[in-house]
Amino acid sequence: MINLILFGPPGSGKGTQAKNLVRRYELLHISTGDLFRYEMGNDTPLGLKAKSYIEKGQLVPDEVTIGMLKNKVDANPKVKGYIFDGFPRTVPQAEALDKLLKGKGQEVTALLALDVDDEEIVTRLLERGKTSGRKDDSNESTIRNRIEVYKSETTPVFDYYAKSDKSQMIKGLGLIPTIAKRLYRVIDKLK
Ligand code: ADP
Repeated sequence: MINLILFGPPGSGKGTQAKNLVRRYELLHISTGDLFRYEMGNDTPLGLKAKSYIEKGQLVPDEVTIGMLKNKVDANPKVKGYIFDGFPRTVPQAEALDKLLKGKGQEVTALLALDVDDEEIVTRLLERGKTSGRKDDSNESTIRNRIEVYKSETTPVFDYYAKSDKSQMIKGLGLIPTIAKRLYRVIDKLK
């Protein structure tokens, strides 16, 4: 099995690249952002809870996110591996993921971080907000808040996996297929 964490700031292209990777490596894509949007779209209790944080550009509390992620992993045991997108976003989430995979005799294979600068992110997210209908993409101060949260709470996850030499940085600027090839080059070596 190969279990990848697709990492990087909001708007760095994780979702776009995950689609390519799923096709090439036949992995299950789990995006916590997509899961939250599904719950919000159906007005479930979990969705209503998540909404109050997401619309402010804050992280949803760890216990809520971890519980939701576990359910999704447990519901899909017969896969070749997972691509985690938007998770883990805090060190406690990373610890919970390691524990969950360990219980299945598995581990995180690698964390691949897409490197994109702040100004490019703001431009991309404001552009996405025009069509996505996502409230968290339509306001520049919410976007800047998400970038700050990423820097303070999420970047430590890169260092956490760097301790076991699993973290790698990948240039996230350029054409989508060019970035895909950069990822393939790294992943093909992991197999
Ligand atoms: P993006 O990567 O574009 O910021 P996502 O679609 O991954 O967006 O997530 C949207 C929002 O959902 C985040 O800003 C956050 O509020 C919430 N969220 C997603 N994943 C997590 C997580 N692992 N922990 C806490 N909150 C999360």
